[in-house]
Amino acid sequence: MQLSNQRYTIQDVDVLAIADEFGLPVYVYDADKIIEKIGLLRSSFSGVNLKIKYAAKALTNVSILKLMRQQGVEMDSVSVNEARMGMLAGFEPGRIMFTPSGVSFEEIREAVDMGLQLNVDSLSLLEWVGQTYGSRVAISIRINPHISEGGNIKISTGHADSKFGISILQRPDILAIVKKYQIPVAGLHIHTGSDFKNANAFLKGADVLFDLATDYPDLTFIDFGSGFKVAYKEGDHITDVAELGRQVSEAFQNFCQQYGRDLELWFEPGKFLVSESGHLLVKTNIVKENPTRTFAAVDSGLNHLIRPMMYDAYHDIKNISNPLGAEKIYTVVGYICETDTFATDRPLPEVRPGDVLSFENAGAYGFSMASNYNARFRPSEVLVYEGKPYLIRQRETFDDLLRGQEIIEFEEELVKK
Ligand SMILES: *Cc1c(COP(=O)(O)O)cnc(C)c1O
Repeated sequence: MQLSNQRYTIQDVDVLAIADEFGLPVYVYDADKIIEKIGLLRSSFSGVNLKIKYAAKALTNVSILKLMRQQGVEMDSVSVNEARMGMLAGFEPGRIMFTPSGVSFEEIREAVDMGLQLNVDSLSLLEWVGQTYGSRVAISIRINPHISEGGNIKISTGHADSKFGISILQRPDILAIVKKYQIPVAGLHIHTGSDFKNANAFLKGADVLFDLATDYPDLTFIDFGSGFKVAYKEGDHITDVAELGRQVSEAFQNFCQQYGRDLELWFEPGKFLVSESGHLLVKTNIVKENPTRTFAAVDSGLNHLIRPMMYDAYHDIKNISNPLGAEKIYTVVGYICETDTFATDRPLPEVRPGDVLSFENAGAYGFSMASNYNARFRPSEVLVYEGKPYLIRQRETFDDLLRGQEIIEFEEELVKK
């Protein structure tokens, strides 16, 4: 979003006009930002056979998935329903990675029947796959390399106590099961959680996989997961993707030479591709001046954007209907009956009732984590593509809140008043 002539714009489209046309609250996504991020990844890893598997859970709208596919990106899913959305967007099932964590064997069976690339996350699942499919289904194996580096504990997945992946300490057990059933192993995978600041953590994880790869002669890919750190506020340390690309590509090329074949290098970025593209636009309902604090309460809350409350995430806020107002300090809160503070003591251009605020960097884990808590509607979604805003999800209605409820007809007035 850019401020030009006192107007906030996305691809020259006036953001306030989008708010007028589609109503509030609304998530607005900038397709150009997504395309820019894809380009940055590609150019950083130009020396290797790179496959980008978009982690669809970050933002699952089918039109976004179609945009990814149009850009030559493939997909990573964590549930068969996500994979179904990917297939609706036109992805071939074989190009969709399925990385379940603790899901039922029935769901695994569905995924295999659909033809997804199964990524195995536990020894018991590996054993089940061997018993069920023998040598008929090629899998990849998710390894926990026991590296913990940076990031919020709730999103960190690579430490020794994490529920994710098969411990690298169980390397002999993995091989024993694979041999017992002759399971074809096509790939090795790590996803050590979000928010790595530099290439070191990736390279440490890479070394673990490169060493493990000597057990498996028929690999076609190595998947490094994600963990790209995104800038939420000015001065944030972020992953230097160009530098990461240079170092990881070099290490990967050396590995391929030793392995004897050129393998595909996969990444599964979610946040990196879509975070910056998204803006949650909300309306200010009330400005409340308490003795110690001024609150700006907006028509949104943890039901629409839970990251600030769940991970203490910082989201930049812009007052787009009064960008030149005199700066004051606000605590920005939602309308949910629960403490739902978006930002504490934040300097903003004067906020008046009715002002439109934008939560920035709201593309990832925004709408996809939204709920109907307090019987509120989730926001609508708009994608700006080639200078035009497209509605990609309608605003909900009361019927949506009732859908699926079976309402019991009790006998009236059993209790005498
Ligand atoms: C969530 C997830 C990702 C994406 O993580 P980001 O931090 O959004 O990039 C990648 N791979 C797997 C297996 C995941 O579960």
